[in-house]
Amino acid sequence: MKRILPLFPLFLSLIVSTSLGGDEVDLQILSEIRQEVEQNSQIEQILSHLTDVHGPRLTGSENLLNASRWSMDQLREWGLENVALEPWGEFGRGWELEKLSLEMTEPYYTPLIGYAKAWTESTEGVISGIPVLFNPEEEEDFNEFKGKLKGKIVLFGDPRDVGLGFEPMAERYSEEQLEEIRTARVGREGHGDWRRRYRAQREWRKRVGEFLRKEEVAVVLEPGRGNAGTVFVGSGGSHEKNGELGLPAIVLSAEHFGLLHRTLSKELELTLRVELASRVLEDDLQAYNVLGEIPGSDPAVSDEVVMLGGHLDSWHAGTGATDNAAGCAVMLEVVRILQALKLQPRRTIRIALWTGEEQGLLGSKGYVERHFQTDENGKFTDEHEKFSAYFNLDNGTGKIRGIYLQGNDSVRPIFGAYIAPLADLGVTTLTVRDTGGTDHLPFDAVNLPAFQFIQDPVSYDTRTHHSNMDVYEHASLSDLKQASIVIATFVYTTAMRDEKLPRKVRAVDSD
Ligand SMILES: [Zn+2]
Repeated sequence: MKRILPLFPLFLSLIVSTSLGGDEVDLQILSEIRQEVEQNSQIEQILSHLTDVHGPRLTGSENLLNASRWSMDQLREWGLENVALEPWGEFGRGWELEKLSLEMTEPYYTPLIGYAKAWTESTEGVISGIPVLFNPEEEEDFNEFKGKLKGKIVLFGDPRDVGLGFEPMAERYSEEQLEEIRTARVGREGHGDWRRRYRAQREWRKRVGEFLRKEEVAVVLEPGRGNAGTVFVGSGGSHEKNGELGLPAIVLSAEHFGLLHRTLSKELELTLRVELASRVLEDDLQAYNVLGEIPGSDPAVSDEVVMLGGHLDSWHAGTGATDNAAGCAVMLEVVRILQALKLQPRRTIRIALWTGEEQGLLGSKGYVERHFQTDENGKFTDEHEKFSAYFNLDNGTGKIRGIYLQGNDSVRPIFGAYIAPLADLGVTTLTVRDTGGTDHLPFDAVNLPAFQFIQDPVSYDTRTHHSNMDVYEHASLSDLKQASIVIATFVYTTAMRDEKLPRKVRAVDSD
């Protein structure tokens, strides 16, 4: 069987000939882009609409569909063509939270900070009672809890030391850190380890969940990662049509979980009152990406495509401001800028706002399958041939400091020319390293040039990524404005250059 293999080592990554001519940024256009951003940026309105107006945007939810429709209206208003809601496949059920209340009523009254996990069931009305501590280390420990948990509020896990917070939550890359990224070797470090730990953890949680369901507990409360009231929350069940919803489950702030744990340990009277109401949406199991185009103006290459995008779906505890309304707002702003300046790109520029990213890059995978995938003979589609590049933004609110070449060293001189006039904005770093976790990967997997930018971390890992604090206030408008200048430059210049971007050299194996 024929198989296509990526060749990562540098020495094998032959540089596909590409003229350096045509890669210099048009400085007149760049200055117009900067001016448009300075005077008329719409980032603030776009971001506030996506987050404040439409709210959390879980895939399959009405909020996401509303945000998608609003984005399409914007694209049409700016004169984009072929604006569409394109189905990418079956996602399964949507899930929405209708009510959550979580209170301590004894030894004194206080509301508690906590968020329901997505795709979990409702409680059977209001549950009041004394919680039970449940912190098994291995499956054998389940025995001592058998028959004791029915109808109970279960505190699952151990309290966490949250520290005093002397470390700043937000940071920008220092020159030394950028130098490390710049000189890193091809590949992704530590990825295998992380994956193994993640799998083991997921397997353990599955066994715990099965036990708690068998014991018919009423609701599960767990301590969250994070501090200062920040809670990171994901899914507690399956979104798939025939999958199972999780037990009612709430993630508490580490501080409030600690309070409950200490109070229980002192054998003081502790009573909680909990109510969780959710609903599933099953009318339409399909999910959709938003697409729109600025058609190419040069008949010789107008059927070639340069894409830009980010994922519109989010988690539900916040409003997905930095993950990833920020990326979508920038991409929307980029096409608005290009249209406002009445630029006529030679190639077609296509924007995509993906969905299902948080459940495994599903929307972009579906798109790639549908548009580029090989047939049984290992052949790619014509669209694959006509594709130049995809640019993705999905690492929070931080300004752009450079770009990951994703193992494709042949684009180095090209992107080097692109970033030269952007140095004053802090864009200085090219690294051959690849980066994962988001929607450029499905393109990369079928050997299409696809890139994610290097962004200042700001408080992505410490505060906002998948948390209740992923809200408008934690996005930086000035950083997003910078990103819109940078990406407008990348996208426009790529649409104008003589050739499509060079691809990674691949070998065909014949075993
Ligand atoms: Zn994301």
